[in-house]
Amino acid sequence: MIIGIPKEIMPGERRVSAIPETVKKMIAQGTTVFVEKGAGEEAFYPDSEYVSAGAKIIDDVQELYKQADVILKVKEPQFNHQKNMHEIDMMSEGQYLITFLHPAAPVNHHMIRKMAEKGIIGLTLDGVPRISRAQRMDALSSMSACAGYKGMIMASNEIAKFMPMIGSAVGMIKPATVFVIGAGVAGLRAIATAKGLGAVVYATDIRPEANEQAQSLGARIVDLGIPEGVAVSEDRKHANNLPKEWLEKEREAIKDIVSKSDIVFCSALVPGRLAPILITEEMVKSMQPGSCIVDVSIDQGGNCELTVPGEKIVKHGVIIEGIKNIPGLLPTSSTWMFAHNIYNLLEYLTVDGKIKLDLNDEITSSILVTYEGKVVHTGALEAMDLIGT
Ligand code: NAD
Repeated sequence: MIIGIPKEIMPGERRVSAIPETVKKMIAQGTTVFVEKGAGEEAFYPDSEYVSAGAKIIDDVQELYKQADVILKVKEPQFNHQKNMHEIDMMSEGQYLITFLHPAAPVNHHMIRKMAEKGIIGLTLDGVPRISRAQRMDALSSMSACAGYKGMIMASNEIAKFMPMIGSAVGMIKPATVFVIGAGVAGLRAIATAKGLGAVVYATDIRPEANEQAQSLGARIVDLGIPEGVAVSEDRKHANNLPKEWLEKEREAIKDIVSKSDIVFCSALVPGRLAPILITEEMVKSMQPGSCIVDVSIDQGGNCELTVPGEKIVKHGVIIEGIKNIPGLLPTSSTWMFAHNIYNLLEYLTVDGKIKLDLNDEITSSILVTYEGKVVHTGALEAMDLIGT
């Protein structure tokens, strides 16, 4: 089996899908690994280290796509301007593609259909189920942890104040106040980072379990008063999309702490939905000039109604950071985590040196997007309105 590691071509994407350490493991299992020249450069994994690990460096990415049985990528296929060709068009029938495909997102539907038409077997990392045995393959959680850490570091860098309490010869300086909304994987990492920097940290989530975890990291919990039956799914696995009146109550409950915070970290998400709007323009106006909102929920629309996707703006004196792809700003660590997650998944799917899909397996069936010429991913089919047709 030949595994191909192309260089990512999305503008600003510095991550890569394999590192010398994981390449070495793949080779030890009898596979051949082709790495595009310079693929790991921007994450500080030079070609020479891939060569030492046993990989072959390929100059022409088309050649890599032509020869590989399995392509590992970070981002969904894109149009390659240098080659004047879409990455999908470099692929062929029966080839496997493992990456983040986000197949339910309408913007990707055309690409997903094209993959099916070409007979490419697409497996998406965002489909890895949230079960214990899949944790080591869960790249989404790894990237959320990166966003939580780096997002908080960015915010602490933006504000014009110290994060910790500082004792000085001219008096005591109060620590910064941080409020984290949504204590999932990203929010909990943000809380831990802010605590580590010495800030006073408040947090809230609509899942009681998340609040317990936030509290155990040292956050003071802002009680929203939302009944569990309204807030949490029946299987207790994820948050519900709150009805309008409860969202209104939540905004009321957090209004006061938002106005007092130097940093508001927004990471409240409901799977498969637009992010709930929790910070209104009025609430931004109530904040101190120079304070900062980091909205890491921006890929799903953002939790603050003023956030501009991909941009940092200043509105009513408040810095609102809407940067996308925060894990890409931490390329060495995010790549390290990503490469291990994708390697673990590949190893899980491989039997006797070849990928063998067990369609009855929960992990495999959750990540399979295109198979035998068809789109088979339930979320994608629902979004494409194709179920039952
Ligand atoms: P997420 O990114 O979907 O959401 C982030 C957080 O936002 C969640 O905690 C959610 O409860 C919260 N939220 C939603 N609406 C809100 C609102 N209106 N106000 C405030 N908060 C709101 O979630 P996530 O970070 O991916 O993780 C969700 C849960 O799944 C966590 O408990 C996590 O530990 C668990 N998880 C389990 C596994 C596994 O077992 N393999 C893997 C990853 C995550």
